[in-house]
Amino acid sequence: MPELPEVEVTRRGIALQLTGRIISGVAVREPRLRWPVPREVLALAGRTVRTIRRRGKYLLVDCGDGHLILHLGMSGSLRVLPPGTPAQKHDHFDLVLGDRVLRLRDPRRFGAVLWTTGDAEAHPLLAHLGVEPLSRALTGERLHALTRAHRTAIKQFLMDGRRIVGVGNIYASEALFRAGINPKKAARRLTARECERLAKSIKDTLRAAIKAGGSSIQNFLAADGAAGEYQVRTLVYDRGGQKCRRCASLIRRLVQGQRSTYYCPTCQR
Ligand SMILES: [Zn+2]
Repeated sequence: MPELPEVEVTRRGIALQLTGRIISGVAVREPRLRWPVPREVLALAGRTVRTIRRRGKYLLVDCGDGHLILHLGMSGSLRVLPPGTPAQKHDHFDLVLGDRVLRLRDPRRFGAVLWTTGDAEAHPLLAHLGVEPLSRALTGERLHALTRAHRTAIKQFLMDGRRIVGVGNIYASEALFRAGINPKKAARRLTARECERLAKSIKDTLRAAIKAGGSSIQNFLAADGAAGEYQVRTLVYDRGGQKCRRCASLIRRLVQGQRSTYYCPTCQR
């Protein structure tokens, strides 16, 4: 499933190719995505792509009088291709911009193509999203305030998109290791100093993943461009039973909220 770093790399890649271009056509081959593709999308020709922003894992294509909202769902990918490139099975949506085509491929069809006028961030799908982890809004102080009322384990707190958006399972384990915090610790028991370390480690973890994917930005013109998770060399994730890269203790695996968590019992107290 594409996580925040993949979505951010996608954003950078398509923004580089499409910003300032005029939409010349739209093709919807399969409107039955997570939600039906609205009819307004078919009438986007003539508008200019002003900017492409990201909120959580949603991409917001600013078209002046409204926003195209794109989401990659479980298996989606966006690529920029030359016009006339034959559509393959699962290529459900094209936004044509003169000599470039933005194409959504989504085999499982959990992705989204939506249209909204007015404040895009106030759209029902976006309005309740938590703090952006890479923004200045996520500070140690803010994290400390956010965690006070929560008895839930910090790992599960981190994965709750209503609090902080876009910290997926891999990145939550990795960030907690970097911060030296046990994933089972109750969120509200984290100290101010721990929250300071954790806010920083969340940003470091996500930035490292974006950097790992950054080399693929130029490949967005290639037919087999962007997709999938980056092969990041993890510190703890998926390393159960292996030696900790810091202290050589054996990494442990546990299940929290039906998701695997990995941690070092020595480094993470
Ligand atoms: Zn360790």
